[in-house]
Amino acid sequence: MKQPAMFLDRDGVINEVLTERVKFVNQPEDFYLLDGVGEAINLFNHLGYKVFVVTNQGGIGLGYMNEAALHQVHQRMKEEIAEFHGVIDDIAYCPHKPHANCACRKPQPQMIYDLARKHAIDLRHSYMVGDREMDIEAGKKAGVNTILVGDRRHAQQPTADLEFKDLWHVAHYFKWNTNT
Ligand SMILES: [Mg+2]
Ligand SMILES: [Zn+2]
Repeated sequence: MKQPAMFLDRDGVINEVLTERVKFVNQPEDFYLLDGVGEAINLFNHLGYKVFVVTNQGGIGLGYMNEAALHQVHQRMKEEIAEFHGVIDDIAYCPHKPHANCACRKPQPQMIYDLARKHAIDLRHSYMVGDREMDIEAGKKAGVNTILVGDRRHAQQPTADLEFKDLWHVAHYFKWNTNT
């Protein structure tokens, strides 16, 4: 069987961003896992999806953070998700500043393509989950199905294939709609 995947945006899908206690996530102390995310990723693992993180980290290119700090943040992320027995299979990030016209920054699909090639992913049966229009656009360009989560859903014309409150609800939709 071909291997499907969940491509997850990070900030606003997995962890808090632009909340009262955290503005941007530039160090492990800024990382707050959102409710239900650990369980959701554990569910995706069990439903047979590879789970990838696909994240724009323009703060590196802008000098707010270096790559060592980003790796520390991602280590924290994996540890917190592991407490719920969830596994992130791989992470792709764009370190370039916004408006640098790099090939990888979402809404470009390059990070999705690279992960798909590396892990032999069936894009047609895979999903991009994001909280911003750029995530949805990247998913569409890559040829995956798209899911919008968070407060911006229902904002304008629906552009994503599906919309949910948060990642927990996404995972449970798949649980209820999968014959296992
Ligand atoms: Mg986001
Ligand atoms: Zn880039």
